[in-house]
Amino acid sequence: MNAVQSVGDTDELLFADDGQDDQEPVRSAWRILIVDDEPDVHRATTFALSGVTILEQPLEFLHAYSAAQAIDLLTQENDIAVVLLDVVMEREHAGLDLVKTIRNDLKLSDVRIILRTGQPGQAPEIETIHDYDINDYKTKSELTRTKLFATITSALRAYRQIRALDELAFYDRLSRLPNRNRFIDLIDAQLQHEEVGNQMIAILDIDDFSEVNDALGHQQGDRLLQAVAERLRNSLGAGVVLARIGGDTFGLMGSADTIDPVGILDLFQDPFAVQDDGMVVTATLGLVHLSDVRGDGMDALKDANIALKRAKKKRRGDYVVFSNEMGFDIRERVRLLRGLRSAVDNDRLFIVYQPQVNLDTGRPVGMEALLRWRDGDGGFVPPEQFIPLAETSGLIMVLGDWVLRSACHELSRLQSAGWSDLRMSVNVSLIQFRHPSFLDKLRAALQDTGIEPAKLELEITESVAMEDANFILDTLTAIKTMGVSIAIDDFGTGYSSLSQLRQLPVDRLKIERVFVRELNPEVQGGHIANMVVELGRNLGMTVIAEGVEDEQQAKALQAMGCHEAQGFLYAHPLPMPELEAWLLMHGKPTLH
Ligand code: C2E
Ligand code: MG
Ligand code: MG
Repeated sequence: MNAVQSVGDTDELLFADDGQDDQEPVRSAWRILIVDDEPDVHRATTFALSGVTILEQPLEFLHAYSAAQAIDLLTQENDIAVVLLDVVMEREHAGLDLVKTIRNDLKLSDVRIILRTGQPGQAPEIETIHDYDINDYKTKSELTRTKLFATITSALRAYRQIRALDELAFYDRLSRLPNRNRFIDLIDAQLQHEEVGNQMIAILDIDDFSEVNDALGHQQGDRLLQAVAERLRNSLGAGVVLARIGGDTFGLMGSADTIDPVGILDLFQDPFAVQDDGMVVTATLGLVHLSDVRGDGMDALKDANIALKRAKKKRRGDYVVFSNEMGFDIRERVRLLRGLRSAVDNDRLFIVYQPQVNLDTGRPVGMEALLRWRDGDGGFVPPEQFIPLAETSGLIMVLGDWVLRSACHELSRLQSAGWSDLRMSVNVSLIQFRHPSFLDKLRAALQDTGIEPAKLELEITESVAMEDANFILDTLTAIKTMGVSIAIDDFGTGYSSLSQLRQLPVDRLKIERVFVRELNPEVQGGHIANMVVELGRNLGMTVIAEGVEDEQQAKALQAMGCHEAQGFLYAHPLPMPELEAWLLMHGKPTLH
């Protein structure tokens, strides 16, 4: 019997018609693998589902009559969306063992698994369903045509969501190129090879891109980026890895003769076609030989970046190859770090609070504590600059602890003033989080200020949440046990594994502001925000959008079912006295 068999007229694979001819073909049928030792079950299932279309696509069936056959198929075939799996086959546990093999050995975490059994008594333990991410559990008698349809639809919906999340994690949507995460993975893979030999990495930065953006608008900026991506792709050929690793930066990897900086810069001689105009831009390159890299893919990228910075200082439109004595710009860092130390000593650091509101009522639900550094000249150093510095220097421990205590203290004051329902969010960096004393400090801050733990929320970034799985799970569980709430910050930018996310005790997802910015009629898209909202709701979490700047965005988010929002539309981050005034204007303290 042929293991791959299609139903009805669905056996031709259509190609997605999105104008991207050079893309991988997109399979336009959902692939369902039926694993069962009884041929009748295969027949009944395909019959029940023959000719149906689910989520705009037909179904294609694959058939396995034993666990071994299923493993072969799962290894050889791509894009299997759903496995309909018999619990009892040649052995009593054959089905459940296969589930373990699929998740643990084949590492297929996307495929949705629906268990089927003849007798209800063979139900697996709840833990098994959870641990192996089994989507559904049905006795065969329950699988009537209608139920089967409903079950498969919900499994396919989940599968689609997971795939979208993977795509988000590894591909840039504008250029369809691999993104930074993926590029780093690819460098890592290359570094594993013994033959690193003549491989090179380059970072290509488009000069003054932000001016193009400001002058001509984001849409033109996007078109320019697409044109540059296309020319690079066509000229460099398939032997070179091309990725979009930042707003206006591309990553390249290939042999030294293909990554020829002079040749690459020459590609910018001719104008780029942007709609009907020709646009001339230049680019600057930073390069590194992989054989010079000590460390992993991330380090390789850092080195290339150092070279890029040098090149920019020298002259735009030129290139620099990294050499080991460059190291990083120590002097600059030392200066900034000295400044930060003295800021700590001279009380030039303070905290501002940005309100968060309920999208339906417009009422304040809480605020986020954000750290500020006023430098000697009355200007501000942005947190994006000094937080990483504080992290690498260890100063973040003192700073973070101070922010946590101050925020708890202010919350306790607000509570005595009648604001007993408000929540205080505090950002916690990975360095703090990893420190063995963190939980003790948190406990002490709660005790000393007497605040209700549930009113404190810790924000960890998505990349932290996806670190070492067991450690994160243990720490988050300990935090939850104290009653403290947990939010994942900047959600949508990190490397999310859904199977991990669903196991974490997280209360809230914060949609990263770039995805909120897209919610505007001139820019296509918005589906990521929508997806995060849907995802959060499915996982029983609250979803809050950050960076909401106008009514339109707020309306769109509300329509998606997003619960809360934060952004300039409501208020900028404010010093405490101004926050209190704002609260009085926009909410009502509950008097006790
Ligand atoms: P975040 O936690 O994602 O904070 C939100 C950032 O968005 C804040 O930037 C805020 O001022 C900004 N923002 C809020 N509403 C809008 C809006 O409508 N439009 C735009 N364009 N931006 C908006 P900020 O204060 O510069 O902080 C930047 C980052 O620095 C924070 O991102 C956070 O990751 C980090 N940070 C700030 N304070 C602390 C802290 O105490 N500890 C740690 N570990 N990190 C902190
Ligand atoms: Mg935050
Ligand atoms: Mg954020």
